[in-house]
Amino acid sequence: MGRPRVRIGYVNDFDVVILGSGPSGQRAAIAAAKLGKKVAVVERRGMVGGVCINTGTIPSKSLREAVVYLTGMNQREMYGAAYRVKEDITVEDLHARTQHVVNRQVDVVRSQLTRNHVHLIQGTGHFVDPHTLEINDGTATARHITAEKVILATGTRPARPSTVEFDNRTIIDSDGILQLEGVPRSMVVVGAGVIGIEYASMFAALGTRVTVIEKRENMLEFLDKEVVEALKYQLRDLAVTFRMGESVVSVEKYDQGAVTILESGKKIAAETVMYSAGRQGVTEALELENAGLKADDRGRIEVDENYQTAVDHIYAVGDVIGFPALAATSMEQGRVAAHHACGDPIHQMSDLQPIGIYTIPEISYVGKTEHELTKAKVPFEVGISRYRELARGQILGDSYGVLKLLVSTETRKVLGVHIFGTQATELVHIGQAVMGCDGTVDYLMDGVFNYPTLAESYKVAALDATNKIRQLEALT
Ligand SMILES: Cc1cc2nc3c(=O)[nH]c(=O)nc-3n(C[C@H](O)[C@H](O)[C@H](O)COP(=O)(O)OP(=O)(O)OC[C@H]3O[C@@H](n4cnc5c(N)ncnc54)[C@H](O)[C@@H]3O)c2cc1C
Repeated sequence: MGRPRVRIGYVNDFDVVILGSGPSGQRAAIAAAKLGKKVAVVERRGMVGGVCINTGTIPSKSLREAVVYLTGMNQREMYGAAYRVKEDITVEDLHARTQHVVNRQVDVVRSQLTRNHVHLIQGTGHFVDPHTLEINDGTATARHITAEKVILATGTRPARPSTVEFDNRTIIDSDGILQLEGVPRSMVVVGAGVIGIEYASMFAALGTRVTVIEKRENMLEFLDKEVVEALKYQLRDLAVTFRMGESVVSVEKYDQGAVTILESGKKIAAETVMYSAGRQGVTEALELENAGLKADDRGRIEVDENYQTAVDHIYAVGDVIGFPALAATSMEQGRVAAHHACGDPIHQMSDLQPIGIYTIPEISYVGKTEHELTKAKVPFEVGISRYRELARGQILGDSYGVLKLLVSTETRKVLGVHIFGTQATELVHIGQAVMGCDGTVDYLMDGVFNYPTLAESYKVAALDATNKIRQLEALT
């Protein structure tokens, strides 16, 4: 790491300036303010709350909630396949909920920053020198501010292949989903990553004929293989077609839609084509070279374990530093970086990070997969609980949900939890807590769970795993 520039006798405008008000920037700002520092957050017009609140996490999850509610999907087990809350679902129905939540969340962020005396400066910031930033807010005069410490929290934007002509109507990226003028009858989703599959499942639930194209043979490879199979089964049931191991050569636009041409010669017609081909760090406008820094070819900034860049007083956090690029981890990175920058270092982020995927149905896991444990030659047993065998599962009408517990046959410790089905993203935290405290399967087996709940699936899976371990022990 480079040597800090000591500027004796110079008083900066701010102790800490943060570029970007997404989850990582917000948390960094509030943490620094709580430590008594004079803090400013610089943010572009109309983007308070970052991608997270304006175009990413919050709109997509609100949209999902609207889709699940209005389609009545979760009630069809009880009331029949034809059940709908609303027959003709329009984009206005979907946007109403999304916009309501986005507006509220922007208010929450603004209020949190104000309450903590964080200065919110509107405009796009770039480095003039390592301690000076120029802020342009679209007016003729630029503002200059100086900072002792700078935290870059500028996030990412969708990556767009140069060969594809995006028009924000027919050929769109994930940002364009929120501007669609109608629910398309058919859609091609290019890229079966988390964002692509989440949107594929939402539109399939709305009745759109979705085709997913992915150049790899498998999708979401970091997940439990059975969970991916279960998801594919559910999505096929909603008429999703998967074209795995296929690459897109070009997309041709017509008045009524577009034709996606694959390397294999296949042509797929659809009203809308959504590209979900990864994301690019937002660093071009930062003029990093003026601060002695540079980004890689995907716009990402390299940092060390304290989120310090190659220039000691400049930190980078959130999606702009790359994996895992989640709101959840970004927030914690911001907090850890701010504490370090303010001379009050705190513990590093735990390795035990849950992953949540808000497909319909949802998925979540924490810890290791069967594949990882097998590869590492760690002996384990699997305990399974199916929602359809739980009273709560029956009450909810969730017949497909499943929770898998991976348990060490040597130490009885819980090594991984994999959930597919209703409330997976909430339930996973029970497993995370047990694992975080180095807990064994016995805690889950002996504990009393509210009845009827989905949480009870932990007990059922724990009993299943321990029965299997007992059988093994009885024979050996
Ligand atoms: C469709 C979608 C769904 C997602 N779903 C989930 C989910 O379910 N769960 C989850 O945990 N994560 C999810 N994510 C990821 C999550 O949104 C990001 O991890 C998170 O927003 C990253 O936060 P951040 O603070 O790094 O940056 P961002 O939220 O990207 O914010 C960066 C901010 O910096 C500002 N900025 C950029 N350059 C400048 C500059 N030069 N000057 C001033 N301001 C600047 C931008 O305007 C922006 O507001 C999703 C993302 C997408 C796209």
